[in-house]
Amino acid sequence: MSLMGQMMHMPLTISSLLTHAARHNGDVEIVSKRVEGDMHRTNWSEIELRSRKLAQALARLGLQAGDRVGTLAWNGYRHLEIYYGVSGAQLVCHTINPRLVPQQVAWIVNDAQDKVIFVDINIFPLVEKLAPMLASVKHVVLMGARESMPKETTLTNLLCYEDLIAAEDGNYQWPSFDENAAASICYTSGTTGNPKGAIYTHRSTVLHALAAALPDAMSLKATDTVLPVVPMFHVNAWGIPYAAAMVGCKLVMPGHHLDGASLYNLFEEEKVTMSAGVPTIWLGLLNHVKSNNLKFSTFKTTIIGGAACPPAMIRTFENDYNVDVIHAWGMTELSPIGTLGRLKAKHADWSLDDKQKLLEKQGKSVFGIDMRIVDADGKVLPWDGKAAGDLEVKGHWVVSGYYNIDKSPLHDGWFPTGDVATIDADGYMQITDRSKDVIKSGGEWISSIDLENVLMGHPAVHEAAAIACAHPKWDERPLMVVVKKPGVEVTAAELIAFYDGKIPKWQTPDDVVFVDEIPHTATGKIYKLKLRESFKDHKLPTI
Ligand code: AMP
Repeated sequence: MSLMGQMMHMPLTISSLLTHAARHNGDVEIVSKRVEGDMHRTNWSEIELRSRKLAQALARLGLQAGDRVGTLAWNGYRHLEIYYGVSGAQLVCHTINPRLVPQQVAWIVNDAQDKVIFVDINIFPLVEKLAPMLASVKHVVLMGARESMPKETTLTNLLCYEDLIAAEDGNYQWPSFDENAAASICYTSGTTGNPKGAIYTHRSTVLHALAAALPDAMSLKATDTVLPVVPMFHVNAWGIPYAAAMVGCKLVMPGHHLDGASLYNLFEEEKVTMSAGVPTIWLGLLNHVKSNNLKFSTFKTTIIGGAACPPAMIRTFENDYNVDVIHAWGMTELSPIGTLGRLKAKHADWSLDDKQKLLEKQGKSVFGIDMRIVDADGKVLPWDGKAAGDLEVKGHWVVSGYYNIDKSPLHDGWFPTGDVATIDADGYMQITDRSKDVIKSGGEWISSIDLENVLMGHPAVHEAAAIACAHPKWDERPLMVVVKKPGVEVTAAELIAFYDGKIPKWQTPDDVVFVDEIPHTATGKIYKLKLRESFKDHKLPTI
């Protein structure tokens, strides 16, 4: 028999992150811009105490291990307390995206069988409307104080968050249990078909937090002040609420105030050093700072992912504002971190241009995630930076199945991501498309991301989306849908000419249409399905 080690064994539970934060960095601030409109300041020590009180309150409401507790809330300290109070008490925190269409919210609550739902004040009307459809929900808790409670409501099961907390003494011990117990559930955004629930374990969440904080990942430190723009209902704000507790850094929670001006003011007032979010949110912030001639005084790094970050956005942040962009790729099924754009020692003497090109890719994997690309027959493709195939992953924080779905999503033990990618010899992965979004022209694939990235570098373009448009000869040809920057004029022909020399000639889009707005999904991605529907009868000039 092999010799066993003699190390303490402590389950990797989410409550251990919070008790560490409270004990070792208790006075570090959590600042929230509240739905109520004011700023609120607390710290890790108070968050831990109130999370314990919340756990007591949930026990008093009769919840038992494994019960699901929903949240419909923005980023704020109460949401953070629910994250920890719920998971810490061996209940399952189910964050729900309030931007989904109401029927989908109801579908998700019913699928998860949430017993309690916590809701922010300005999302309450949605819950009130859906309540008759939510049979599993025994209590709705309004995330506010007594004075925020509605004067009149059709709900008979409405509770007040601050009353719940105030009724408890905090004399509560976080339970110890199997680290493989469910900690939280997040549903995929489901632009096609019903959303699917990814159930994270305590173990996967803690390991993900450890990896997320590493220097070659988010590089989170106790000296950082982090503002997660990415919502806590989108894959647990990419793990920041957990990783921040682990490293003991200050958190700044923006609530629903995500316009450029509000974000900029928060960045400056709270001396934010680091942030994270999807590309679309940064368009608003960059527009605001540019049009008002502003600079950032403390903001140093931002993690951009959730959709391809256009190289032009990386350049603007770095050249004009001295903010480093770390391009990251991940997904709900990966908790979400998969890869990040970070250099290796061998790149030290590369030219600036070559380094920048490399960092435009989605990056290399962190420990805990392995990846490969396969062709349509499942044959593994080489890492040569050229062969593009279906990206598959495996790792400590990758789903092995979905909630309530028997059929395994795995292929040969790997999780098929639905993304198409290349991987180069050094392990740098580049997404060329979502497999549903590739443009198939005459049997060849055109990357919609490549086409979008070129136009995003044009001074007159605010946002650009590439979609496939039917073509009798080539099956599909690229059509660009473009939003112009305010007050700037540009023609379709000028934009098409802008592609010269930047991509292979045959990939040049056949047409450009201008719109006032490009539709986005509830998680801030370009809503390609909707765009394809809107332009399905568009007649290309090349037909
Ligand atoms: P979600 O589960 O909502 O986080 O969506 C995950 C999907 O977003 C991935 O499968 C990709 O299609 C897309 N995605 C995320 N990050 C990136 C990125 N950096 N570049 C391109 N696509 C991305």
